[in-house]
Amino acid sequence: MDLSYSAEHEAFRQQVIAFLKKHKTLAPVGAGLRSAKTRDWQALLIEHGYTARTIPREYGGFGAKPDLLKGRIIAEEFARAQVPGGLSGQGIAMLVPTLLELGTEEQKQQFIRPTLSGEMIWCQGYSEPGAGSDLASLKTSAVLEGENWLVNGQKIWTSTAQIADWIFCLVRTEPDAPKHKGISFLLFRMDTPGIEVRPLVDMTGLANFNETFFTDVVVPKNQIVGFRGEGWRVANTILGNERDSLGNPNATLSRLNALIRLMKSETVGGISLISMPAYRDRLMKIQGRVMALRFNDMRILSAKLNRKDASLARLIVKLQGTELRHDLEALAIDAMGEAGLCFGESDYLRDGGSWQYQYMYFLGLIIGGGTSQIQKNIISERGLGMPREPRVNANTAT
Ligand SMILES: Cc1cc2nc3c(=O)[nH]c(=O)nc-3n(C[C@H](O)[C@H](O)[C@H](O)COP(=O)(O)OP(=O)(O)OC[C@H]3O[C@@H](n4cnc5c(N)ncnc54)[C@H](O)[C@@H]3O)c2cc1C
Repeated sequence: MDLSYSAEHEAFRQQVIAFLKKHKTLAPVGAGLRSAKTRDWQALLIEHGYTARTIPREYGGFGAKPDLLKGRIIAEEFARAQVPGGLSGQGIAMLVPTLLELGTEEQKQQFIRPTLSGEMIWCQGYSEPGAGSDLASLKTSAVLEGENWLVNGQKIWTSTAQIADWIFCLVRTEPDAPKHKGISFLLFRMDTPGIEVRPLVDMTGLANFNETFFTDVVVPKNQIVGFRGEGWRVANTILGNERDSLGNPNATLSRLNALIRLMKSETVGGISLISMPAYRDRLMKIQGRVMALRFNDMRILSAKLNRKDASLARLIVKLQGTELRHDLEALAIDAMGEAGLCFGESDYLRDGGSWQYQYMYFLGLIIGGGTSQIQKNIISERGLGMPREPRVNANTAT
């Protein structure tokens, strides 16, 4: 693999660096998703093609020809400058690519532009109390009555449901079909009567996700993506896109650089942590894993460029990336000594407590989007050709 960039790409890199130098003070650090500052930054990035780069202009994107290396340069330079890139919630990262591939023209026109601009926030209604890793066992039902679906059931772990405008939701429309075949993919507003959202507080002390209940929720018949009973295919398109957004190597590299700074400034007896062999050894192991992660990310890039299947490399990046981030944040906590144990309101917090927060948050991301055990199962079965694990209840939803 040739890892060097062409002159055209190096010139493009200089443009990105110049943009960042000029505009970085406008970046919405710590601003809320609905703030004007966040929306203005998103609009500026789209205008210059630094986010939504290849999404057609007619749907609110920048409309550039696909050039994966340019996309990579943008991500690298934003990470290097520690400037937040474009918005990347579940709507943008997961639903938009899926609508582009499988949505009707009407759905593309209605949903993509407001989602990209940050005006329309989405949540993902997949998991249920009895259907997480075994997602195809989901039971939330949708029954067609005249021109509407009537939705009943419960979702769980629904991130951002408390602020979302819309939900993309997996429902069972064919209860008698084999379990993977009876599922459909619906889009509906979160203020539809019959939806109740109950917050779930996680170990960070925040309610990052929710339980979501549906009682006779009326959804117009045409708010389905793909055909009735083919929601599993739509869901898998989405899960591939989700894995791309978890364990991001550029964000990890940016965090590694922050860790190096932290370990230079933290001292014990006047000696910086980075000068202590035991800590430096741990740092170098993390650094090696960050490099390996970036090379696996290049396998995705290379597979895409050569129009080959990138799904296995995506699983590896999700598996490695989320576990590595958790370990990286853990090293920072150790490096801070007693101050690493503070959380919430404390005068001793470093970097606003972000190390402690991310340590806990990434424990969740090792589970979300498919647990590490499930990633390992798929990698061993599909990648290494190991025997498949026994399948139980392959044909029914019960
Ligand atoms: C931070 C976070 C955000 C999330 N956001 C969302 C969201 O927005 N929308 C949404 O729908 N869901 C969301 N989820 C849910 C997430 O997708 C599920 O938690 C995940 O798929 C695991 O399902 P489960 O929790 O039911 O665990 P289970 O499937 O019950 O698994 C329990 C344990 O058993 C292991 N296990 C299960 N099956 C196997 C097997 N075949 N082989 C080996 N081990 C196995 C698992 O690895 C796990 O350790 C989120 C979860 C987290 C943590």
